[in-house]
Amino acid sequence: MSIPDIIIAVDGYSSTGKSTFAKMVAAEFGFLYLDSGAMYRGVALCTLEAGLAHEDATFDEQGLQALLPSLELHFRREEGATKLFLGDRCIEGEIRTLGVSKFASPVSALPFVRHFVDDKLHGFAAGGRVIMDGRDIGTTVFPNAEVKIFMTAEPAERARRRYEEHLAKGENVTLEEVRANLEERDYRDSHRETSPLRQAADAYVLDNTHMTLHEELVWMLGLLQGKFGLLESPGLSW
Ligand code: C5P
Repeated sequence: MSIPDIIIAVDGYSSTGKSTFAKMVAAEFGFLYLDSGAMYRGVALCTLEAGLAHEDATFDEQGLQALLPSLELHFRREEGATKLFLGDRCIEGEIRTLGVSKFASPVSALPFVRHFVDDKLHGFAAGGRVIMDGRDIGTTVFPNAEVKIFMTAEPAERARRRYEEHLAKGENVTLEEVRANLEERDYRDSHRETSPLRQAADAYVLDNTHMTLHEELVWMLGLLQGKFGLLESPGLSW
């Protein structure tokens, strides 16, 4: 089966499994996977480390504007995974903590931060054949993406999944804290002025509350076959 060199945009609420889905599709169909949320998390981490973030999730905006051009944020393939680096420092683990998550959404609401990240994302995707996940990929970053997917799942299920991820990493968090963080991020992401989270008019909705990864992949295969007229049915590895 051959799929053309398209861009696939995957958007949706926090912790709906966008990155798991996108990574799986990338591996199955030979696409480059890019995680736009990692970039906002990276900016949030750098902001915290530079002492430019305040407890109430506001920022020293002038300081941040001056800092951004010096941030060498980029992705590198390592041990079969795409990881975020700051120069030569791998920051993939640090950007996933709840501490950084709390600042990722407020920092991403700043228009100059979005501009900085969008520029980088366009550069990373220049080679084509990319699947990128985020909140505004199909609406703002790549409005002409050939395939757009909008992912959703019930909030209780999303909180449970994210809570288990934190526990597996040995982080001391409660389910209530995780759920509150998800709800707050969803609210902020949907209500900000610049590039709010919206379902693109031409997006296909994937509600995976009760789906296994294999079912999600079968759904994707069906979508690609329907869209590109690919009739042969390959064996799926998931
Ligand atoms: O996807 P993830 O949860 O890792 O993203 C971290 C944060 O970055 C989100 O809570 C969201 O506020 C922001 N984000 C965004 N636009 C994107 C991707 C992420 O605003 N395209």
